[in-house]
Amino acid sequence: MGLIVQKFGGTSVADVERIRNVARRVAKNYDQGNGMVVILSAMAGVTDTLIDLANQMTAGAQSPDKRELDVLLATGEQTTAALLAMYLKTMGYPARSLLGFQAEVVTDCSYGNARIIDVRAGQVRKLIQDRYIVVVAGFQGCDSEGNITTLGRGGSDTSAVAMAAALKADRCEIYTDVDGIYTADPNVCGKARKLDRISCEEMLEMASLGAKVLHIRSVEFALKHNVPVYVRSSFNEEEGTMLVNGEQDMERPVVSGITYSKNEARITLKKVPDQPGIAAKIFAPVADAGINVDMIIQNTRAGGQTDLTFTVPKSEYQRTLEIERDVAARIGAESVRGDENIAKVSVIGVGMKSHSGVASKMFTSLADENINIMMISTSEIRISCVVEEKQAELAVRTLHTAFGLDADADAKK
Ligand code: ADP
Ligand code: ASP
Ligand code: MG
Repeated sequence: MGLIVQKFGGTSVADVERIRNVARRVAKNYDQGNGMVVILSAMAGVTDTLIDLANQMTAGAQSPDKRELDVLLATGEQTTAALLAMYLKTMGYPARSLLGFQAEVVTDCSYGNARIIDVRAGQVRKLIQDRYIVVVAGFQGCDSEGNITTLGRGGSDTSAVAMAAALKADRCEIYTDVDGIYTADPNVCGKARKLDRISCEEMLEMASLGAKVLHIRSVEFALKHNVPVYVRSSFNEEEGTMLVNGEQDMERPVVSGITYSKNEARITLKKVPDQPGIAAKIFAPVADAGINVDMIIQNTRAGGQTDLTFTVPKSEYQRTLEIERDVAARIGAESVRGDENIAKVSVIGVGMKSHSGVASKMFTSLADENINIMMISTSEIRISCVVEEKQAELAVRTLHTAFGLDADADAKK
């Protein structure tokens, strides 16, 4: 017996029958005497549909007002929370749905990408004490002025882990459409292997490099507040993956996972005068616009000129191009080019800290498949390469095999 927070993602609540399935799972845990808090996503595809609707509404004008967009997007999770609570009641269970503001999920005021500052959960605690099943709409909160905010795409994982941290829950279970966390996206790499456990450190890196199975901030919360997080499928009873804090007695392969992300775009300034202060002139306006630059490379040409290439989130591509066209005219660069059809493929592993040769193996394996590397970046525990978007999946599979991660690799040894 304990207090359990369970989160169900979009595919797990995609239709009425699946919501009934969720209700049965929740009820079973409640019947065992556990306190139950359930965090829900919107039905699969609903958030995208709402974004489309907003864009249609403002077509021709500027992008939709950010405050109103969050009011709109929050309705996706409001729908599923109400439907689940409704069904639990028909099953004879005391249930109550709450929206983010009613659960007192306090965020900053960055609409569309708000950060949770505090989860007060007064009503949630009271309802648990009174033996209610509390169903909370994920992905949403409320700023100190009372405005509805949303936490960024995939953010209901963070709602769940933050709620579990606030309530000091015994565990936080994330139910999704795969059986756990794998060495690579199992929908791209058929030979990906399910991990029994993964360190928060590695999961943070994987989430930040494209593995959307967990929202990155949910892993940050788990790490900071020591929340036991367990990821598993809502469609079967298979054992899932436990997120573990610290590196105690973990199996340590040099490379533990491969990720890819198609969310970046590349900008190149050609023939930039190679003088002190130029990089600042190129990047300061991008930073001032609140755009995050990821990778940067600079090539020196003859004649006191350089080419400078960097990546930004795809969603900021047009805005960055406009900014850099202005910059190029000011500093006397020859031209600005961009490319949206790129992907970043990364190999990740804490074991890399103490091993050499990972980079060369990565480059050789990609070359053997004729995959051209456009940019490279490294940290202590990962190496990332930018490749053509259409080669991303092949690159993931190639690296997965090259680093001995394939599910059948052990059998072959
Ligand atoms: P939910 O709607 O349940 O939040 P998401 O679509 O956000 O589900 O996340 C689950 C998806 O994450 C899987 O369907 C899978 O394609 C993808 N994924 C990417 N990398 C991994 C990985 N390393 N392990 C498991 N799933 C991954
Ligand atoms: N519904 C939101 C999204 O699609 C949040 C989530 O599913 O976690 O991004
Ligand atoms: Mg998700």
